[in-house]
Formats: sequence, structure tokens, C-alpha cells
Amino acid sequence: MLFSGIGEDGQARLLTSRAVIVGCGAIGAAAANLLVRAGVGRVRIIDRDFVEPSNLQRQTLFDEADAREALPKAVAAERKLRSINSAIAVEGVVADLNPRNAPELLAGFDLILDGTDNFETRFLLNDFAVSSGSPWIYAAAVASYGLTMTVLPGVTPCLACLLETQRQGLEETCDTVGVLGSIVNLIASLEVADALKLLSGRAGQHSRLISCDVWSGRFQSVRVARNPDCRVCVRREFSYLEGQAQPHVTMCGRDSVQIHERGRALDLAALRTHLARTIADVRQNDFLLRFRIPPYEMTVFADGRAILKGTKDPAVARSVYARYIGA
Ligand SMILES: [Zn+2]
Repeated sequence: MLFSGIGEDGQARLLTSRAVIVGCGAIGAAAANLLVRAGVGRVRIIDRDFVEPSNLQRQTLFDEADAREALPKAVAAERKLRSINSAIAVEGVVADLNPRNAPELLAGFDLILDGTDNFETRFLLNDFAVSSGSPWIYAAAVASYGLTMTVLPGVTPCLACLLETQRQGLEETCDTVGVLGSIVNLIASLEVADALKLLSGRAGQHSRLISCDVWSGRFQSVRVARNPDCRVCVRREFSYLEGQAQPHVTMCGRDSVQIHERGRALDLAALRTHLARTIADVRQNDFLLRFRIPPYEMTVFADGRAILKGTKDPAVARSVYARYIGA
């Protein structure tokens, strides 16, 4: 309230505002932390993954106990964030955002923040945001480098203006080159500063792409032009939103493949009983079930999704899934 950019009016507006964060890895976790502490009234966090020890170097909301329990990130984040600010509404949703569930999971929010680790989901967010007129903020980081841009449909260019003409995305992945905790937290800070401007009604928006490299010390702010033939914000062809969900997705940061199975619900307790007849090490909590079939480790969620660690081959993942979970 003391900061003139927000003030008492702006803080009151933050309390009535609603933000949804898609992906709760490093950037998403840092952004959620800042939004909740700033008093944004309603924060939803959507994430498909669970906490692992290797996340803790950069994913500042989680701790060793979360990794030991293999808690879904959305569940661990909700717990931690509620303990930080009990005066607002925080909701974790364990789900993989796809064209089928995006309209339901993203509707009713004033702003969407990017915490994802892949361009498939970012283009889906961009399609949803432009088609529904919702502001969203793109944010990405890899190694020591990151970038962010705010998209206001009808006002600024969109992600497709930027990326579908020239490849300005990040070609490397965290899988191959790693990522520093300092760049993800810096990018999340820039993302949240723009979020607070928008949500407090103080936006004097710029259509600039901000990029930084914390290792070289290089910072850039570049004006982005609208592509006069943009698929999304000019031609309004929402091919990612209208597309079918991808059957397989390779995850960032691990040697893993995710399998989607038509969103069918699984009875995890029954599955555990069944698997325990042939597999020695089957572990289960309220949200997921995990077992080892060397050299693989499979984690199955209640919504039927599974993550197979130990391969990058979708065909191997599908075959292991069919054998142990069912075709
Ligand atoms: Zn565009």
C-alpha cells in the first residue's frame, strides 16, 4: 500500500483479483509465492508432476519432505501457500493442461501466468488467451538465460507473432543444459511485477520482450511487432486449442515420458493390490502410485496419467503402461 505504484486502491483490487498459474516448476513456484504474499485474492495452480529431490535446487516452494512423500507439486504448493497467507483462496489442481480441459481450468481468471516447461502448452495458452480475450504472461528459462513477455489480446502482439515467424524460443532444454535457480527466480519476479500492474489496475502496458542472462550480465528489452499474418491474433486460427491432446509428452529435466489415457479414473488402492502380487516395491499415497520394474520406474496418477522414468521412447512407455495398468 505504501508503494505509490499500487497504493491502497491497487491493493484492494489485488484482493479481489484472480490469477491462474499453469505449471508449478521453478518459475511457477516462485511466481505463486510472490502472488500469494502480495495478496492476490484467488490463486489456482495447475501442475501434472510430483516433487523430486532434483527439483529442490531451484523450486523454492518445496522441501525434502515433499520429495520423500512424492507429493504432486500442485498439492505441495497449495499446502505451503496456505500456510503463508490464509486470508486468500489458494487451490492446487493436479492435471495436465490439454485442449479438452483448458477452457474449464482457465475460465474465470483475470490473468494466466506461464510456469510451463514446453511450447506445446504455451501455444495452447496463447490460443486460449487470444480467443477468450484473457491477458497472459509468457515466461521461460534455461541454463542462465530467460525471457518474459506480457500478452494483452487486442492490445499487444501475441506469442505466435513472436515465435511462429522466427525461432526466438529456447531450443535447448533444462534436460540437456540444466537451469540456474537465480535465472528462474529473476524471470518469475519480472513476470509477477507485470502481473501486479495488471491485477491492481495500474497497467501502462508495453509490448516488450525482456530477456536476461545472469551469467553474462546481458539484459535486453526489445519491442515486439505484430505479425500482420499471425495465425492466432490476426487470422484467429486456434489450432492448438482445437487440436487433440498429444498422446505422449516427453518431460523436461528427466529421462521420462508421460502417457495420457483418455482421462479415465483409476482406483489406485485396487491397482496397488493387483500390482503387489507380482511387484515387490509398490508405493502409494493419496494422489499417486509408484512402482519399479527395472530399468523403469512408473508413477500413475488417479486421473489415469502415468510418467515412465528411464526411457525417452514413447513406444516403450505405451507398452509398459499397457502391460501393468491396462490398454
Ligand atoms: Zn499474434
